[in-house]
Amino acid sequence: MTQIELLLQYQQADMAADAFEAKIKRNPTRVAMKKNRDFLVEQQNAAKKLEAEVAQMTDRVETIKLAIVRLEEQLNQMTKRMQDTPPTDLAKAQEAARNAQKLLSDLEDYEKEMRTIQKEAASREKAEKDIRVKFATVKAEFEKQKEAYEAESKELKKELEQKRKEAEEKTAGLDPALLEKYRTIKQHCTPPVAKLYSGQCMGCNMSLPQATLRKLKNDSGIIECENCGRMLIQM
Ligand SMILES: [Zn+2]
Repeated sequence: MTQIELLLQYQQADMAADAFEAKIKRNPTRVAMKKNRDFLVEQQNAAKKLEAEVAQMTDRVETIKLAIVRLEEQLNQMTKRMQDTPPTDLAKAQEAARNAQKLLSDLEDYEKEMRTIQKEAASREKAEKDIRVKFATVKAEFEKQKEAYEAESKELKKELEQKRKEAEEKTAGLDPALLEKYRTIKQHCTPPVAKLYSGQCMGCNMSLPQATLRKLKNDSGIIECENCGRMLIQM
């Protein structure tokens, strides 16, 4: 058997193994499983984000509560001062009233902010709860798929290993340099060996210059496509 024939036999077995591996990756159970897994990760991140936001809001509410207590104390002290020593003239009375008004207005602002935050936090908590419920449902489905796929893939993996082994066996007698070249080309072009048909590379459909074609006739029968880099053989 010539090197070209050996190489072609190897390529056929190698491509069969690759095709089988690609088929495994397209397995519907596997695809559905992957989709669910992505969804679960996404939901988990969304829930975490909501949780962090709620924690931040809770902190802010605590700060506001303390500020409100402080304002109320100030207001009480001011009221008490007014009762103990009422203002002696109009200007002082007006100033005291303005100060009290300012405190009341601040108090109102804080209370308003607190209510808004509490409402937003509650809606986030609800969204988070909804996510957790949905998460549990999808997670249960995912676990079932995983179990089914693991059983299924055990068989598929065995079959793939067999195909890889078969391909490996075809390398017997093949020039190592040729095999090395095949593997290098395969990293960017597959299948690495293509046929030459009426001066055209059947891998990329590019026509080869006459000079290159003449070289093929003189050499060992393998040339490289100048466009895609595949090994070309004339059949
Ligand atoms: Zn080509």
